[in-house]
Amino acid sequence: MEKYLESFINGYKGYANYLWTEITNPHWKNYFYWLIGVSLFFFLLELIKPWRQKQAKFRKDFWLDFFYMFFNFFLFSLIIYNAASMVVVDLFKDFLALFGIRNLVALQVETWPKILQLLVMFVVRDFIQWWVHRLLHRSAFLWEFHKVHHSVLQMGFAAHLRYHWMENVVYRSLEYIPLAMIGFGIDDFFLVHIFTLAIGHFNHSNLKLNLGPLKYIFNNPQMHIWHHAHDLPSEKHYGVNFGITLSLWDYLWGTDYIPKDGRDIPLGFPGVEDYPKTFIAQNLHGFKLTKAERKVKKN
Ligand SMILES: [Zn+2]
Ligand SMILES: [Zn+2]
Repeated sequence: MEKYLESFINGYKGYANYLWTEITNPHWKNYFYWLIGVSLFFFLLELIKPWRQKQAKFRKDFWLDFFYMFFNFFLFSLIIYNAASMVVVDLFKDFLALFGIRNLVALQVETWPKILQLLVMFVVRDFIQWWVHRLLHRSAFLWEFHKVHHSVLQMGFAAHLRYHWMENVVYRSLEYIPLAMIGFGIDDFFLVHIFTLAIGHFNHSNLKLNLGPLKYIFNNPQMHIWHHAHDLPSEKHYGVNFGITLSLWDYLWGTDYIPKDGRDIPLGFPGVEDYPKTFIAQNLHGFKLTKAERKVKKN
């Protein structure tokens, strides 16, 4: 027990120092400034050429989402989660050691060219995340947490990172083991993280960009807005367009859905009017419902 606690504290201390060093030392591999830079880039594009011209530049809930952005991308995922994941990694390794398994790596990717490693890691991770996202919609328990992301009523780049911190826990836990099995560790994430951050901002941005045939590979605002549609046909009520960075999986599994131009469609979900509006209330919401309430809400 002490060992795990020490691991947590060291992880926490390490990343608290790391946060401070990041802010005080701008450099190329710096998450903090990349987050600011990428956000500013999309903010400016939305100012110059918005898809919905009537939407306010500082749209509804802009500042709430701005706060979520730093909380989720930076504070939670880099500091708290990394500290916790040190413990999870230790626990998991110790658990495997009980069965005499010391090496989890099923495929040795270290000898591959770096660019190929990153590409494989990105595609595998995106595919896992696509399934996790579907799960967030299918499970009544997880859907209550995922509703935070779907409570966005006006779309803009910052909505990308409005989500409940439980999602970090679910995504990271479910993606870590398969990625570790092909030999990837948390340190390899930087480039992939920045790339997915940029595409994620793009998907939620108030921009129109015709990707041509690339739309069958990459997610985009014209597709993702339908993922946030308030009303869906009953046979698709669990959701459509689950793609995170790649849209490919939706086209392959037939969950793609763009019936018409979605520029002005109502967003949210049935009952969104009664959904909590503040950061704290939204974060408590998923924990409050009883099993029976979830059942009723889902059906
Ligand atoms: Zn969703
Ligand atoms: Zn979204």
